[in-house]
Amino acid sequence: MDTQKPHVACPHCGAVNRVPAERLGDDPVCGRCGQALLDGGVVELDEARFDAVVNATDLPVLVDFWAPWCGPCRMMAPQFEAAARQLKGRALLVKVNSDEAPRLSARYGIRSIPTLVKLSRGQEVQRQSGALPAAQIVAMAR
Ligand SMILES: [Zn+2]
Repeated sequence: MDTQKPHVACPHCGAVNRVPAERLGDDPVCGRCGQALLDGGVVELDEARFDAVVNATDLPVLVDFWAPWCGPCRMMAPQFEAAARQLKGRALLVKVNSDEAPRLSARYGIRSIPTLVKLSRGQEVQRQSGALPAAQIVAMAR
């Protein structure tokens, strides 16, 4: 990883941006589409965009595999959003609807939801199943 100018893939258009490390927390915008790259929000990715964004982003990526019918998933959603705000500019927090992404769920061997998978340039480095509070999600991203 280039620690001076990490790559950050735009969750909206897929363009790969290089953002000076000291500006990661300053609401960087995409050089192609002008939308926010890291605004402290949770990014929803489908199978079409997942690899392009996750593999090209140098920051730690936390993926929440969830589904709308899953109670614990819905319970964790505000915690995940709170963690995203705390991790603004330091990590990318992604939600994947496992019902709509069966190939991704199979690739990562998701057997129960919610499951959080931490990726480093697309490679899994850690995972945790079950709903977690924001503090634990933040700790996992470090
Ligand atoms: Zn863009």
